[in-house]
Amino acid sequence: MTTETATLIDGKAIAADVRASIKSDVEARLAAGKRAPFLSVVLIGEDPGSASYVRGKHRAASEVGIKTDNLAFPETVSEEELLAVIDRLNRDPEIDGILVQLPLPSHIDDQKIISALSPAKDVDCFHPENVGRLMLGLPGLKPATPAGILELLKRSGIETSGKHAVIVGRSNIVGKPLANMLMQKGVDATVTVCHSRTANLAEITRQADILVAAIGKADFITADMVKPGAAVIDVGINRVEDASRERGYRLTGDVAFDEVSGIASYITPVPGGVGPMTIALMLKNTLIAARFQEQESG
Ligand code: NDP
Repeated sequence: MTTETATLIDGKAIAADVRASIKSDVEARLAAGKRAPFLSVVLIGEDPGSASYVRGKHRAASEVGIKTDNLAFPETVSEEELLAVIDRLNRDPEIDGILVQLPLPSHIDDQKIISALSPAKDVDCFHPENVGRLMLGLPGLKPATPAGILELLKRSGIETSGKHAVIVGRSNIVGKPLANMLMQKGVDATVTVCHSRTANLAEITRQADILVAAIGKADFITADMVKPGAAVIDVGINRVEDASRERGYRLTGDVAFDEVSGIASYITPVPGGVGPMTIALMLKNTLIAARFQEQESG
């Protein structure tokens, strides 16, 4: 076993670079007499986690010159009311991107709401048409978290071609789209996707040149599950009780950071790794959606 210490992939700094380039594109739009990109955020209920994510998105958008509005609805909002709102946002030529903060209350069918979004305004890239385009390798919006991970790999000089990428987690928002993106021509990784029913998980993760953890379980990936020299990307965001913190908890990833950083070649921290990239790439999608809207309006 090697005793190297992994290079830290600074997602915060890389995301700041991505945001700076979005900001200069927005400024160029304004200088050319175009309006600022506009993102509508739909928030349902009082979940403090969702409210905090949404606040972060508004703040980040405003810093790059993207305008936003917040459409907040009580937990009791009906599916019909929500569909009517989506329809209005879809038709409004001044609105480029729509983001519906998930999860939705249980009486609302997530998939019905997502499928009602105009694919050209779907900055989360959850609409079935966008998912299909992604799978086919067609141009279009890309889901923010997987796109952020690819950007982290690229900007850190981590080779993907011919490498074995193992993803632990098969969700629709992380594992599945990331597997698709990593296997596309030009990225060229050989991909294995693992989940809770995978047999001999550690045997598989130990084969990974690039190991992505998107599980939602604190410190799940331990050093014995990692090949020496692997690049380890930690998507997980877990709240762990911590009496020494004022808020009573701290955020931690799915990877046992201290032990794994002693064996990996590269590692992302939590917080400050994948998280800031997700927001930056969502903003990039809003800019792309504004270009779609321009083409639409002729
Ligand atoms: P999901 O709960 O939708 O998926 C978790 C996946 O992990 C499932 O596929 C599940 O398997 C798998 N899993 C659970 N337990 C095990 C196990 N013991 N062994 C192997 N696989 C297991 O989560 P998400 O994909 O939405 O999110 C994953 C984590 O990433 C969460 O902590 C979330 O907060 C975080 N996240 C972070 C983002 C960021 O920007 N940094 C963005 C999105 C998510 P199965 O399918 O069989 O149940």
